[in-house]
Formats: sequence, C-alpha cells, structure tokens
Amino acid sequence: AFDGTLTRDWMHRFADSVYATEAELTALDQRVGDGDFGTNLTAGVRAAGHLLDAGGAEAGPSETLGCMATAFLDEIGGTSGPLFGLLFQALSRSASGNGLTSAGLAEGVEQGLAAIRRVGDAAPGDKTLVDALTPAAAALRGASGGTPPDRALSLAADAAWQGVHDTAGLSARMGRASYLGERVTGIPDPGAVGVALLFASAAGPVH
Ligand code: ADP
Ligand code: MG
Ligand code: MG
Repeated sequence: AFDGTLTRDWMHRFADSVYATEAELTALDQRVGDGDFGTNLTAGVRAAGHLLDAGGAEAGPSETLGCMATAFLDEIGGTSGPLFGLLFQALSRSASGNGLTSAGLAEGVEQGLAAIRRVGDAAPGDKTLVDALTPAAAALRGASGGTPPDRALSLAADAAWQGVHDTAGLSARMGRASYLGERVTGIPDPGAVGVALLFASAAGPVH
C-alpha cells in the first residue's frame, strides 16, 4: 500500500507534471473553452503544495489527499477546481490505516467519479474529465486482487490516456466547450488530460 511518503511523492510529481504542461493545458482550453484550465490546475497544485508543506513529513495518505481536496475545493475557481477537489476528497476517505491500497484506490476513484457526476451532471461521451475518469475507474476495479498500487495506477493511467484520446472525437455537451459545438471536434478535452496526468504521475513525472 502507499504510505504517507509514497502518497506525498505522488502528489508532488503530479504538481511537477502540471507545471510542466501548464502551457499545453492552457492552449487546449483556449481552443475548446475559455483558456483558464492551465491556470486553474496550476493554482490548485500550488495551493495544495503550501498545505502539504505545512502538514510536514508525518502526514499520512488520508491527510495528504485531504490537503489536496481542501486546496481544490476551497481556493480554486473554474469548474475543474471543485471537481478535482471531490476526487481528492473521495481518495482521502478511501485510505485506511494500512495506507492507500489498490482496493482503496478503486473505491476512491469510483466514489469520486460518482460525486463528480452528481455535481457536474456530465455523462460519459460529453467530452469532459468524466471520459478519462470512467475508464480509469474500470481499470482499477478490474485489476486483480494482488496488484500493487503503483501497477494499478499505471493501468489506470493507460485507460485514462485512451479516454483522453477518445475525447478528441467528441463534440461537447457540457461546460463552455458546448457553445463551440462541432468546432471543437479533433481536440482532446483539457480536464481529461489533467485526470490522466494525475494517474500517470504515480509512476514518474510527466512532461
Ligand atoms: P471552466 O470551464 O469553468 O473554465 P476549467 O477550465 O477549470 O473550468 O475546467 C474545464 C474542464 O472542466 C473541462 O475540460 C472539463 O473536463 C471539465 N468540466 C467542465 N464541465 C464539466 C461538468 N459538468 N462535468 C464534469 N467535468 C466538467
Ligand atoms: Mg476553462
Ligand atoms: Mg473559466
């Protein structure tokens, strides 16, 4: 299972991945939305970084993911801030005394996805981050019992990137991208890329 150190390392690598891709995320949202996604996600990981630093080296997985949730829920604007916050909140709740297990990750992502769908009302195929999170949740749920968490997260990352790829073929029904209609077909959804970065960062920084 992921202990506090492994969970914090994962979150720091996610932050590094977001900083490294901020310009690309901005460029994507300029084409399918209003251009602020890179700024919003960067602000989220920066605010979370301050909370993680304040939490010190003893913070366990649940506290660490709870800091991520607080930062994204309380401080970040845009649609994506609260939605990422709900995912981190569910992941925080799924970490047990043994740390973050593969089963806990599967449960947390499933609960996070359910909360995001309740709040945002997007279904798969609407060209949102739900299109990356849904296959990632299925991959985590399908990983066999003895799969270690880093391997399970790598399977989730592969599934999420496939979901990102698929969003390029979709026109949007939700959010600002929906006003652009068919013109955004061919461009992947930025929020879905953000979700894929989160899972991919478990293995190493993504540039
Ligand atoms: P805003 O659209 O408010 O500017 P962001 O730019 O921060 O918000 O985030 C945009 C991303 O949020 C989109 O790429 C999409 O993945 C996601 N998103 C937008 N609306 C929804 C929704 N209703 N449900 C799920 N995800 C959504
Ligand atoms: Mg935006
Ligand atoms: Mg906006």
